[in-house]
Amino acid sequence: MNLLRYGSVGPQVELVQLALQREGALREDPDGIFGARTRAAVTGFQRRNGLAADGVVGKATWQTLTPWLTGCRTVTVRPGDTFYRLAVRWGVSLRSVETANPEVDPLNLQPGQKLVLPLPFEVVPATIRFTSTALSYCAEGLAARYPFLETDSAGQSVLGKPLRLLRFGRGRNAVFFNAAHHANEWITAPLVLRFLERLCAAYASGRAVGGVMASELWNRCTLRLLPMVNPDGVDLATGEIAPGSEAYAQALAMNGSRAGFPENWKANIRGVDLNLQYPAGWDDARRIKFSQGYTKPGPRDYVGSAPLTEPESRAVYDYSLRNPFDLTLSYHTQGQVIYWKYDGFDPPHAKVIGRRLAALSGYALELTPEESAYAGYKDWFIQQFDRPGYTVEAGEGVSPLPLGQFEEIYRANEPLLAYAMLATVG
Ligand SMILES: [Zn+2]
Repeated sequence: MNLLRYGSVGPQVELVQLALQREGALREDPDGIFGARTRAAVTGFQRRNGLAADGVVGKATWQTLTPWLTGCRTVTVRPGDTFYRLAVRWGVSLRSVETANPEVDPLNLQPGQKLVLPLPFEVVPATIRFTSTALSYCAEGLAARYPFLETDSAGQSVLGKPLRLLRFGRGRNAVFFNAAHHANEWITAPLVLRFLERLCAAYASGRAVGGVMASELWNRCTLRLLPMVNPDGVDLATGEIAPGSEAYAQALAMNGSRAGFPENWKANIRGVDLNLQYPAGWDDARRIKFSQGYTKPGPRDYVGSAPLTEPESRAVYDYSLRNPFDLTLSYHTQGQVIYWKYDGFDPPHAKVIGRRLAALSGYALELTPEESAYAGYKDWFIQQFDRPGYTVEAGEGVSPLPLGQFEEIYRANEPLLAYAMLATVG
């Protein structure tokens, strides 16, 4: 993490502001600008936590802020402590303490014993630019709060970042949700993660999510979630990759004079569009995109020199071959539409399920327009397995979508996501 001080800007400042807001030291929503209010909040936080009160966020302050990013902390049991007393002291539910500590016998707590204590807010933020760093905090925090959740990695990005995976459920129906193939569509990562968090919370407390009992989803489905296929691109588009770094300079050179750099960047960090990389009509995709002028690495629409040249798309491809899914959803952001078809394929039940997904979200079910009808993940998945695979284009307007749309997008998609987990079960 960077050293942050008065005058610093960027998504790491937003993380600090989010943590301070959750802790109570800052009232305003994060804006990514380390100004006088943020400095005062940092100083107050440092004083209350026995740190040198210099208003600068260095290593020790980052570490002390971490529980307000992961949403949980480790506490040491004191004489007389019970789950109930700990829950009251920290303002959380008894159930959440039990859920986070399944191996601990609450009737036999020992002084000195370590417990995981969830903090009283949702882990997944909807008010900050969502970087790969934010994803790391969320994955760590969700796995600690919900130990039944399993974490894994499908591989690595060009810059060596893990392609994080989270797994929920023990059922036979295998479902795969992925998001943020496209860098400037990073809002889809917190979207699917928010669903996972609500799903876990519902499962832990015996409730429903999106109209379906979470216990049924757990028993009948195994959900694998890859929230950020393109972490390097997301970090470029969100400003996490700093101007002045080599990766930034190279991307800027590829971008040339095109407007909206880096926030409109869509490709991976090598300038290849990861959703034009799959071996399903790739030559057609190449022909179309070349005719539109996308003939070399750049911010969008370059198909690469061959299919699967990029480690991110290769990893998703390999992972899908190892886990033959019954249904997949790929999240993008382009106009409240669901695409269900590839070429002449007509997977069993795909259209009926697609209609239901559309009805639940209020989105339209459509055929993919010719210019983007090839080499996407869903195209390849349908061709390979002849099973239902969908591209969900969430939200309205030009990417990156404003975070102000997040709650509305989430509401539209929660029932769709819950239904998709069991749609192929019948
Ligand atoms: Zn997209």
